[in-house]
Amino acid sequence: MSVPRRPVVVVGAGPVGLTAALVLAQGGVPVTVLESDPALSTASRASTFHPATLDLLDELGVAAALRAEGRTVHEIQWRDLEQRLLHRMSYDALTGRTAHPYRVHVEQSRLTPLLLAALEAHPHAEVCFSSTVFDVRPWGNDAVRLWIDGPAGLRAPLDAGYVVAADGSRSTVRTALRLPSRATEYPWYALRVVTATALDGLLPDLGPLAYVRDPRQSFSVLGMPDHWRLIFRLPADVPRGQVTERRAVGALLERALPSCAGQLDVTDAHTYRLASYVLPDYQVGRVLFAGDAAHLTSTAGGMNMNCGLHDAVAWGRALTQVHHGEADPGLLDRVAAERRAVVKHKVIPRSEARTAGIDDADGLHRALDGIGRIAADPGRVTDYLHAASLLDCAPLPRQQAR
Ligand SMILES: Cc1cc2nc3c(=O)[nH]c(=O)nc-3n(C[C@H](O)[C@H](O)[C@H](O)COP(=O)(O)OP(=O)(O)OC[C@H]3O[C@@H](n4cnc5c(N)ncnc54)[C@H](O)[C@@H]3O)c2cc1C
Repeated sequence: MSVPRRPVVVVGAGPVGLTAALVLAQGGVPVTVLESDPALSTASRASTFHPATLDLLDELGVAAALRAEGRTVHEIQWRDLEQRLLHRMSYDALTGRTAHPYRVHVEQSRLTPLLLAALEAHPHAEVCFSSTVFDVRPWGNDAVRLWIDGPAGLRAPLDAGYVVAADGSRSTVRTALRLPSRATEYPWYALRVVTATALDGLLPDLGPLAYVRDPRQSFSVLGMPDHWRLIFRLPADVPRGQVTERRAVGALLERALPSCAGQLDVTDAHTYRLASYVLPDYQVGRVLFAGDAAHLTSTAGGMNMNCGLHDAVAWGRALTQVHHGEADPGLLDRVAAERRAVVKHKVIPRSEARTAGIDDADGLHRALDGIGRIAADPGRVTDYLHAASLLDCAPLPRQQAR
């Protein structure tokens, strides 16, 4: 029996896999997406879309709809525990460098349906749910063979000219190719407390992105369209089970937001681990890694998913050129090296810098002094936000010159 063959197979219908698939389909490359779950994930995970990412999503035709569902963030604030505004930086400083001089707060699970709808309407794309890839091997000189556990329990092979592995942090493709998988856990983890109470109604001048930096308690505040998130960083030796108990959350909120005591409707509290990881090579033969399958960082700064979406665009564009004979496959080596260097030398250090020094009073004062000096100098504000938005290391939008 002959095995069916596709030019490109994407493993994983998360934000990264669907973005790669849409770039390919819009570039005229037939693409098949295989997703193990029966439907898109609705889990609450990443929530920040940076300007560079919005520029790229605009090119795919989904940025405006995503923004309409989210909350637009025009500035970053730094505040103390008395909720005095210490510093602020306005995204207006990026005008002229991006078509989207702001960030958007919206669940990643709002992006994936937009991408899926675009793919389902596209003649070059097919998305197969309930299709788990359980093995992957190089096949001859010009293919990769995937073994799939399909909807009817059928274990069918499929050949691909190229595979984009976007199957997340526990990547089966990575394991099948015997690549290193061990991430380095940070000595702290994140506690996310969700409240339905509109914090900007309680705290004067509060914007939807604030870093509360105070020797007594530091945390981040994110305003979402229909709720607010407070994100705390806790040492790894504090038991994770206890910190989400109602009384523990109540005590933490009394310390963090004393002026709101008793007024917050807490709807959820949960923890997640923070780890870093970079795959030694993003390209293994005809398999190309993207997103969490290739890298992890701390969630501080909200860069990991954004960087994964940039990987997806870079791979999608490069594969499109190779498919149409407009570039030789050596282009893929260059993209692999570039995307890996972005994570190693920019995304991970920037994400770690976001919380550097916040654990002791001296370090915190130094960090805040540094932010104060930047905030007072318009040129440095532009440079700071340019880097924080990954505008210096994302693929360039085709239509816009930065
Ligand atoms: C609690 C939490 C909070 C986070 N907060 C932030 C944040 O604030 N900012 C930020 O930038 N990032 C954040 N992240 C990270 C962000 O969610 C990820 O970077 C993002 O989801 C990566 O997208 P992805 O498409 O690479 O992987 P995923 O979203 O994990 O998607 C992978 C897909 O592959 C599928 N799959 C897996 N194995 C197979 C297989 N064998 N066959 C077929 N399909 C398969 C999965 O079902 C899944 O749909 C957070 C993550 C968590 C867990």
